[in-house]
Amino acid sequence: MSCAFELEHYRELIEAAKQGGYRFAGFEATPRPGDLLLRHDVDLSLEAALAMAELEAELGAPATYFLMTRSEFYNLDAPSGHDAIERLRRLGHRVGLHAVYPDTESHARFDAVLAWHNPDPDYMTAPVDGFVNAMQPGFFDPGHYRSDSNQRWRHGCPHEPLACGDFEWLQLLIHPEIWVYPGETMRETMLAMLDAERELRLDQLDADRIDLS
Ligand SMILES: [Zn+2]
Ligand SMILES: [Zn+2]
Repeated sequence: MSCAFELEHYRELIEAAKQGGYRFAGFEATPRPGDLLLRHDVDLSLEAALAMAELEAELGAPATYFLMTRSEFYNLDAPSGHDAIERLRRLGHRVGLHAVYPDTESHARFDAVLAWHNPDPDYMTAPVDGFVNAMQPGFFDPGHYRSDSNQRWRHGCPHEPLACGDFEWLQLLIHPEIWVYPGETMRETMLAMLDAERELRLDQLDADRIDLS
């Protein structure tokens, strides 16, 4: 099995977790043995989030999508943002806030759960009023956490230990962009994402009645 950052291997990762007997859980309560908390920080692309969300729905693997209200890259107040949240909910996923410190925003569109974007260590694990912080004690400790940040697993791809049930429970942070767009390195993946967005932008211009003839 090749541990490529591709949707095909993401499918294998989820199937490995099922084989290991894990239960897909959210952040409503502190994890119990056997829980797998699928966490997606959506930094760049709602399209990538939706592609991953469709696959998870097909596999019966509900996740929590953390979305930004202050992203440079997408707009939750645009029709595409509204549609994305509605689609994520309809597919059975949870939606939390991917917050930029120190701003928090309680809003009906989010569950009361938050993950900081690029947090500094001094506030990363601190409790936050009105929210569960995904990194607060009880939900996070290094032995029960794996992340694909920058297309690199610090302790190797977790598919094998998941299949063997090696983790008592696990919070697995996955960035959809990394898996949906092809590339051996983060740079290649980002360039592929930009190529795909060019097509999307052309469609949006057309929908905005811009003459592209
Ligand atoms: Zn793997
Ligand atoms: Zn982030």
